[in-house]
Amino acid sequence: MKISIIVPCYNEEEALPAFYEELSSVASSMDKYEFEMLFIDDGSKDNTLPILQEFAKNDERVKYIAFSRNFGKEAAMYAGFCNSSGDYTAVMDADMQDPPSLLPEMVKILEEGDYDSVATRRSTRKGEPKIRSFFARLFYKIMNKISNTNVVDGARDFRLMKREMVDAIVSMCEVNRFSKGIFGWIGFKTYWLSYENVERVAGKTKWSFWKLFKYSLDGITNFSSTPLKISSVMGFVFTLISLVMLIFVFVRALIFQDPVQGWPSLVCIILFIGGIQLFCIGIIGQYISKMYIETKKRPHYIVAKTNKDDIVK
Ligand code: UDP
Ligand code: MG
Repeated sequence: MKISIIVPCYNEEEALPAFYEELSSVASSMDKYEFEMLFIDDGSKDNTLPILQEFAKNDERVKYIAFSRNFGKEAAMYAGFCNSSGDYTAVMDADMQDPPSLLPEMVKILEEGDYDSVATRRSTRKGEPKIRSFFARLFYKIMNKISNTNVVDGARDFRLMKREMVDAIVSMCEVNRFSKGIFGWIGFKTYWLSYENVERVAGKTKWSFWKLFKYSLDGITNFSSTPLKISSVMGFVFTLISLVMLIFVFVRALIFQDPVQGWPSLVCIILFIGGIQLFCIGIIGQYISKMYIETKKRPHYIVAKTNKDDIVK
């Protein structure tokens, strides 16, 4: 039995040594299994790559794939899935927010139970800014309302999967990736493991509020066409309202021979409708721009350096 651990790393020089040590000790406690540690250096600007090369020199379980620039965590995870060869595969952050010590329990659940994957979720959002938690919750609520794909609140990307599930993920080759949605979309039986939120061991988070906000919008447009429906419904409702108003104004003019009046209200209405139109065009634009990127079929990532000889690009 072989277990592949995929670790996306972006500027993780501070966290990597501790993580590697912890993962190695967990791996040696599970001597029944062969391990493959697949580190994806996502265009780090610090010493992440030299550190990984150092690990690889002394440990043949360590494989690294270094991108030519920062392609994002989604691309890094995809590279990992494409290149993982284990019977079981897990994604794990380099900052120990996904505790390697959970691995033995996860493997046991897959071996004994009738599950295809074990996923983790944090039971609390302890140590996270309040405002960030608030928007995160709001996002999950909206997402689950408007999309058929179930996205679990508090779910982390940390999960252990059987081969079939990894193959399914690899077969979803869209460039605009939103893994939380992809995991839900492909289905399979998942066991949920809760644990308390752990804070980063070292270094700092790579996600600014703005980056998260854009990521959540991506999630919505990738897994739901409801915003498009909202814009059509809005268009329909406004057409109805304007029809009623037209009849009202027409009849009033016939009866009272109304002189010209109401210029300010007219301007307000024109601006309002104009705003709504631009808003709806913007929504359509979001989808078109996604299609534009997808049709180019650009690679998800570009590999600059690796110690793997059978690399999938
Ligand atoms: N990461 C990455 N590419 C990026 C941003 C992040 O590979 O562009 C990696 C990062 O090194 C870490 C994981 O993704 O291993 C999660 O990132 P982070 O801890 O910053 O996110 P948070 O836990 O705060 O959500
Ligand atoms: Mg983290």
